[in-house]
Amino acid sequence: MATKNKNLHTVKTQGTYYDIVKKNISKIVIDYQRSEPGKKLFMMGWGNTSQPLSPAITHALVNASKRLGDVETYTSYEDIRGNVQLREKICEEYYSKKIEVSFDPSEVFVNDGAQSILTNILELFEPNNTVALPNPYYPSFYEGVILSGRSSFLELPCLEENHFIPEPPQTKVDLIYLCSPNNPTGAVFNRKQLQAFVNYARYHGSILIFDAVYNYFIRTPDVPMSIYEIEGARECAIEVCSFSKFASFTGLRVGWSIVPDTLLSNDSEYGELKNMWNIRNSIKFWGASNLAQQAAMAILTEQGQKECKGIVDYYMGNACLLKQSMKNFGFCCFGGTENPYLWVKAPNGENSWQFFHRLLTETGIVGIPGILFGSNGDGFIRLSTLGRREEIEEAAKNLEKFHV
Ligand code: PLP
Repeated sequence: MATKNKNLHTVKTQGTYYDIVKKNISKIVIDYQRSEPGKKLFMMGWGNTSQPLSPAITHALVNASKRLGDVETYTSYEDIRGNVQLREKICEEYYSKKIEVSFDPSEVFVNDGAQSILTNILELFEPNNTVALPNPYYPSFYEGVILSGRSSFLELPCLEENHFIPEPPQTKVDLIYLCSPNNPTGAVFNRKQLQAFVNYARYHGSILIFDAVYNYFIRTPDVPMSIYEIEGARECAIEVCSFSKFASFTGLRVGWSIVPDTLLSNDSEYGELKNMWNIRNSIKFWGASNLAQQAAMAILTEQGQKECKGIVDYYMGNACLLKQSMKNFGFCCFGGTENPYLWVKAPNGENSWQFFHRLLTETGIVGIPGILFGSNGDGFIRLSTLGRREEIEEAAKNLEKFHV
């Protein structure tokens, strides 16, 4: 007799972030629109990109699809780790040139974006390995942990008092998720703060799972783009990156992870975790789309980098504009300098749902209540500035209608 997966059932019963945003928030918005027909709404909840693919990328996509349509140049299944030229480019153009660390292409695993790696990577470790998460967290960290059968985890508080940057745990934990620049708070780790986590991990034999999806948005000099800029990280960290946000690949779906040869668990040998991850993928994942990988290669050319910088500048221009306006109208607002999210504090001690409703009804702005990112997110709202400039400008003006 078949029985349902109890971990999946638990996640479903609690309500996933995706479901709450797609069903509950959408329903509130639709009901509101019905009651106030004519009123303009500004959708700043979902972290969806609005800018099109850049010319270098569309050109590469067209050429790649033509090659797939020709029997002489057609390609079928490729290396499970990803196209070898793309992995070489990630090593050269990204890690060697930008961060000055060298990896072998065999340590790079190309994926269909970052989302699936961030949760699937837990399969590399024993189910009894304990996990720590920052709170507030990126929702799939939490949901993936529950789905993996771990019913509890240690929370690392990210509060206004610690500038939303957690301290390493006081007790021994096996796996630690970190995200910098952070979604939802917008905070970034400096070198010293990251070094503390690397030192902790090396002392306790823990492994860091470092989500660097927003690293291209970093503006402040000397803020680390990669965990591997930190001494000792190659022995204790897996890094997860994505082309989604800075290159408008949210729909094309390409990301990558680094599982270094030097990464060691308490009981593994040199290269063993990397090889195990490859075995896991050969069972469950046969590589990202070859078309999308060809497009990703164009991102890592000089022209592609220039064009993607234009996309990032556009979003950060949005963030700067909205943040300034929020400040002018008396809001207390964090983030928006190293990634495209504003973390806005609710006025007068309101909780995040109360703030969400008031922002919606008084200004038409739809954000995500911070509580959906964990208990420490209550009292905040997250606004995404990945939308179009004209919308952001209009929303920024509408803020004057809000009674702070
Ligand atoms: N990690 C963080 C922090 C994100 O904000 C997102 C997407 O919003 C992801 C991972 C997933 O990105 P991808 O589109 O590469 O799957």
